[in-house]
Amino acid sequence: MGLLSREIKSLDQLFVHGLQDMYYAEQQVAKSLPKMIEKATDSQLKSSLQQHLRETENQVKRLEKVFEMHDEQPKGANCPAMDGILKEGDELMGEVTEEVRDAALIGAAQAVEHYEITRYGTLITWAKELGHNDWARVLKETLDEEKATDKKLTQMAEKKANPSAHGRKTPMKGRSASTRKRASAGARRVSKSKTHAKKKSTARRSA
Ligand code: FE
Ligand code: FE
Ligand code: FE
Repeated sequence: MGLLSREIKSLDQLFVHGLQDMYYAEQQVAKSLPKMIEKATDSQLKSSLQQHLRETENQVKRLEKVFEMHDEQPKGANCPAMDGILKEGDELMGEVTEEVRDAALIGAAQAVEHYEITRYGTLITWAKELGHNDWARVLKETLDEEKATDKKLTQMAEKKANPSAHGRKTPMKGRSASTRKRASAGARRVSKSKTHAKKKSTARRSA
């Protein structure tokens, strides 16, 4: 909030500012999703992101509806947080190989969903405090979509993207407990020896 911009003096104004923040943020997400869809290698991930793009476009309209219910002209306010989350995801996409791309993409997409979840959660509690369950109800529809998307992304990561980024064909959960135990013990051995090697090279450098 700059020196010249209007001060926010009430919960109602704070609520409107929050709507403006999300109005801007959702539009940035809608602009970024096509690029993410293009980068996704897994077809199920692609179609889920596609579905969420359609939802996001509808979420922008839903925000317009809440502005209207509030007798307020829809307007965006810069959201440096969403700009940063999208920029970080985009930069990461330029740094990863094909093998780990879907896992990275899901992680980046989940950062977006989590920001949205926290903002809509707050907006809903403010709307209720302001005595407007009608605003809260509309916003809750969006919150539910963000949560469902986040959940779906976790499932896709666990089932496919993470194991494949990790060089495995089957997900951890799908294997027997004993195989899982052996696998994780192996992973511990590897990371231990890596740490050991790192310590050694640090020691060499400092010597
Ligand atoms: Fe959204
Ligand atoms: Fe923001
Ligand atoms: Fe979303």
